[in-house]
Amino acid sequence: MPFSLLPRTIVHGLPDLTPKMLKKLGVELLMLDFDNTVVPYTTDVPTPAVRAWFRTMQASGIRLCVVSNSKKERVQQFCRQWDIPCFTHCRKPSRKGILRAAEAMKAPLQACALAGDQIYTDTLAANRAGVRSILVEPIHLHNVWLRLRHVAELPFIHLAKRRMKHEQSD
Ligand SMILES: [Mg+2]
Repeated sequence: MPFSLLPRTIVHGLPDLTPKMLKKLGVELLMLDFDNTVVPYTTDVPTPAVRAWFRTMQASGIRLCVVSNSKKERVQQFCRQWDIPCFTHCRKPSRKGILRAAEAMKAPLQACALAGDQIYTDTLAANRAGVRSILVEPIHLHNVWLRLRHVAELPFIHLAKRRMKHEQSD
């Protein structure tokens, strides 16, 4: 799927991605977008639900890494604190950062997924790289630009939800 804006899977937030579900999908390495996926732009402190999810994932054998477009030190600092491999300057929707992360983590692309909150960067990059695209709802749309962008994503979210429904009924 070289150029698609449709996520394969949509969930409310990271805690909805259970090890059982990911293992069923064949995911061994879950790549995470950082801003508005792990924490909002406005804080570096994850919610208790996300903290508990990190511990569950780290015990599950499914590996995590962060694949972020950010150039800010806060991303690497967070990853050090939580012992999560970190790839920054990824330039999604380019697929290069994803390919770099998969190679460094020695994970075949078909066993990778990328969870992120933005269709035009995360979903598109994941689809272009050939890894499963998982859309999570943005944690907090704190300014008008983020809200407008989200409105522009709604048609694709609607189509992707319809596809998910069909796949479940097959
Ligand atoms: Mg994001």
